[in-house]
Amino acid sequence: MNNKKRIAILGSTGSIGTQTLDIVRRNSDKLQVTALAAGSNIDLLEQQIREFQPQVACLNDEKHAKLLQERVTDLKVEVLFGMEGLLAIARHADYDTLVTAVVGMMGIRPTMAAIEAGKDVALANKETLVTAGHLIIPLAKKMGVSILPIDSEHSAIFQCLNGEKRGEVSKIILTASGGPFRGKTRTEMANVQVEDALKHPNWAMGRKITIDSATMVNKGLEVMEAKWLFDVDLDQVEVVVQPQSLIHSMVEFQDGAIMAQLGTPDMRLPIQYALFYPTRMPLDGERVDFKKIRQITFEEPDLENFRGLALAYEAARIGGSMPTIYNAANEMAVSLFLNRRIGFLAITDLIEEAMQAHQVIKNPQVDEILAAEQEAYALIRGKNLK
Ligand code: NDP
Ligand code: MG
Repeated sequence: MNNKKRIAILGSTGSIGTQTLDIVRRNSDKLQVTALAAGSNIDLLEQQIREFQPQVACLNDEKHAKLLQERVTDLKVEVLFGMEGLLAIARHADYDTLVTAVVGMMGIRPTMAAIEAGKDVALANKETLVTAGHLIIPLAKKMGVSILPIDSEHSAIFQCLNGEKRGEVSKIILTASGGPFRGKTRTEMANVQVEDALKHPNWAMGRKITIDSATMVNKGLEVMEAKWLFDVDLDQVEVVVQPQSLIHSMVEFQDGAIMAQLGTPDMRLPIQYALFYPTRMPLDGERVDFKKIRQITFEEPDLENFRGLALAYEAARIGGSMPTIYNAANEMAVSLFLNRRIGFLAITDLIEEAMQAHQVIKNPQVDEILAAEQEAYALIRGKNLK
């Protein structure tokens, strides 16, 4: 009898995906991969299929999928493609927990399909909750499935809430490293290059989230993610800069007690915690040594120079389809910045412009969310950037 937990990973070749597979590798007596999906990294996906032997795999386009299927004819794996492939995995694959580790709003539909199929979701893909949290959270409640956070701050909060009553929480304190440009003014950031923005002081992550950390849009997305995950008001989510990234986040309770989760920055801990919750499994790696830490410092976030965070609070306060506009404009602007077509500050300028142009839709359904995404893309495309 096989009673391993079966997991499906969307985004298996990325930063979170490969670290998830590392956790599976170290716990092969308890975890088993049954489905893997990636965008276009055919070589790495083939390697992963050979090592983990899933029943089904998926790539973004049909040509790549066919090529991969030909390469793995010696194995019993079916290769699907595109959004239909991701949805087929979410709906029909043989798994217990879906790990959503793709980047961006493409995570919405497969995540919802998994919940509808009654599966638990270990969620790294924050863009999904930011844009569709109002649909996903009630759906998960209705289906009686768990959404387990992988984002380190939200995992920290989730750990701090263990055994506590949600109604006794007074505040969530999200910590931020401040990114590579902490302390800089807008003038000083005007000419920063892609390479500078990709140098995160504490974490090695995918390219998009690394840029989001440099603009502090990442923290803005995380504020919205926290609001949905922990069912708190926006005013109960506070951001504090803690440049050493030792405190991963905190919760303040109504009696004034504050619980914090600390550790060295290593995404494998929140990933493993999500996969084994409520069990804490062993995990090797560097430990915090308080004799060597000279200081843990705190700063207020700089909302004037880092508009990304201020605009996120604004988008969240307006609600409805506005967080989608905030997120979609950011997704496109980040991709333009990474392709060196716009400067660093233009990222938040474009978000602001898209938000100003948008007519809010209250309580948008999935097709309206996806239409709002296209609206933000069209607005930026229409600017005829070089
Ligand atoms: P990466 O860019 O490293 O990985 C993205 C993954 O998505 C890759 O496997 C990529 O495949 C895959 N992908 C891209 N397009 C498609 C597609 N059309 N269909 C299926 N898969 C696709 O991102 P990260 O791992 O850094 O981030 C993933 C998510 O987790 C993001 O939402 C991010 O905000 C969040 N997150 C990440 C953290 C981190 O430490 N990295 C921390 C907290 C949250 P391919 O390689 O083929 O392109
Ligand atoms: Mg985070």
